[in-house]
This record gives sequence, C-alpha cells and structure tokens, in this order.
Amino acid sequence: MERIAVLTSGGDAPGMNAAIRAVVRTGHYHGLEVYGIISGYAGLIEGNMKRLSLRSVGDIIHRGGTVLYSARCDEFKTEAGRKNAVEQLKKNKIDGLVVIGGDGSFRGAKALTSLGFPTIGIPGTIDNDISGTDFTIGFDTAINTVIECIDRIRDTATSHERAYVIEVMGRNAGDIALWAGLADGAESILIPEAPFDLDEVIERVRFASERGKRHSIIVLAEGVGSGVEFGEKIKQALSVETRVTVLGHVQRGGSPTAFDRVLASRMGAKAVELLVKGEKDKMVAIRNNKVLGVNIDEAFANKHLPDLELYELAKILSI
Ligand code: ATP
Repeated sequence: MERIAVLTSGGDAPGMNAAIRAVVRTGHYHGLEVYGIISGYAGLIEGNMKRLSLRSVGDIIHRGGTVLYSARCDEFKTEAGRKNAVEQLKKNKIDGLVVIGGDGSFRGAKALTSLGFPTIGIPGTIDNDISGTDFTIGFDTAINTVIECIDRIRDTATSHERAYVIEVMGRNAGDIALWAGLADGAESILIPEAPFDLDEVIERVRFASERGKRHSIIVLAEGVGSGVEFGEKIKQALSVETRVTVLGHVQRGGSPTAFDRVLASRMGAKAVELLVKGEKDKMVAIRNNKVLGVNIDEAFANKHLPDLELYELAKILSI
C-alpha cells in the first residue's frame, strides 16, 4: 500500500477534522501518500481530490465542520456512479480509502469494498446512531452544546415559573435527548426507543409544580415528533405557562470537546493501521474504551439502541 485517500460524507460532525488529521499524520508515519477527497462521494465520482501533506492538516484539530466538505450524493447510490468512483480511485493510484460518516456513508463504503476496493469506515455523526460502537465522533460535542443551551433555558424557566419543551436532534435515535436530559436533570425525557404515556408526562409536570418546583424541563428527541405540537398538548392540559425551543442546527457545529478530539484521533489512526494490515470491509469502533476494527456489517446487522439503563436512571433521579 502506497497511497490512501480520506473523505467525509453525510452530515458534518465536530471532530471530523481531528479524524482527518489523524488519518493524514498516521498515513505519513507509515510512509504513505494521503489524498483528501473533496465533498464526499460526489467529489470521488468527479475525481476531485488533493494531496494532503503533514502540515496541511495543521490548525484544524479544534475546528468543527469538515475541511474536506461533506455532501449527499444520489449518483453514488447507483451502480454506474460507484463504478465511476472506483475508476477514479484506480486512475489516481489510490490503494485504500477511509470514509468518515454515518450509516448511509457506511453503506457506500461497504459497496466500494464489494467492488474490490479496500474501504474502512469511521463513525462520524452527532446522532450516535451507529450500531456496533459505543460512541460516534461528534456526539459528545453535541450533547455538551445541548446542555449548555438547556442550562440557559433553565434560568429563564425558573425565573418565570414555566414548563419548557426542548426538541433536540438525533434523527430516529434518542441518544442526544437521553444523555442531555439526564445531564440536565430533565423532568421527562422522550425518546423513540421507549414508549411513553402523555398523561404520565403531564402528571409529572403537574406534580412538580404542586410541590413547589418552579420549572419543568421536558427533553424531546426529534424522532418522537414535533416539539411544537407536543408543547401545545402540555399547554392545553396544564395551567403552567409552556414554551417550546427547537434547538436545530446549533447542535451540529462548534469546536469539538476533548473527548471527541481524542476519539477522532484514535479512530483515524486505527483506520490507517487496518488498511496497512490489508484489512477491508471493516469499521472502526470503540467498545469499553478499546478502539478496534470490526466487520462493517455490524453497523447494519442490528438496530442501534441507546443505553436504556440511563433512561431508567433518569426516571428515578428526576422524581
Ligand atoms: P448522517 O447520519 O449524519 O445523516 P449519513 O452518512 O447516514 O450521515 P446519508 O445521507 O444517509 O448520511 O449518506 C451519505 C451518502 O452516502 C449518500 O449521499 C450517498 O452518497 C451514500 N449512500 C447512502 N446510502 C447508500 C447506499 N445504500 N449505497 C451506496 N451509497 C450510499
């Protein structure tokens, strides 16, 4: 193996730059040339790539987003698109590819390996919704952003005696809502993976108010439904003033936390080591604080589930 490439795909996540840096620097450590593909699979199909020197990835470890840009590319979902991509890789004498992204990007990585091109996936998404790994790059930063926002909202909620419904991201996964809700002492956490009873949620807010609590925080994962509609139902059922905040894309950006920088550095280095060893069809995962290469099919084999013990704990602690 002499030349490898790296791309970022799907939604951007804080820490992707730290992972790119680790791929480039570990590649150079092993005597490889490293290329950066611009704008994900779309750039790959066009052959839009540039050589990345050791120094080219200086001063990016602390930055959110991705310096290689990201994109969603429907053409890559077609056989013709993927064949073009492999041709570009061969034309540019690339021997192995690292794909940093979510589960959709992993399906693309799997498809490339099936076409005979060694590709390794690194889980990079704020949603933490990839099966087979305890954490994805960007999740820790996102939950820290969310709790900073909720802390601020809590000040106002207490001052005005209000109930707040806060809708957070996560697509179909409840991890962001669960971790942020637990970290912020929310009265109720609503996630798609755990059934809930609306009457019970309303009762909790009423009970909290009756025993003198001046605020109620309800954290709702976007996968459950609209925060605005949910807030309306709470408002109608209670005399407590209710406000809704949809946090939206503030959760995606920002400087990565130390955890995400370290995770991305470890995962980027591991991906290159796997390629150097001749491995393919693998994703990098972290399990019990060990970074390892596992079969990429593990990302698709089971539905991702958040840690439901945390859900039960949050219920006990928020009484
Ligand atoms: P996030 O979780 O942040 O949304 P993601 O990687 O899941 O990230 P997607 O939009 O699902 O984001 O996928 C990114 C890109 O991966 C797609 O635009 C497409 O180019 C490629 N891709 C997705 N699914 C497939 C598939 N089944 N086969 C081949 N390529 C795919």
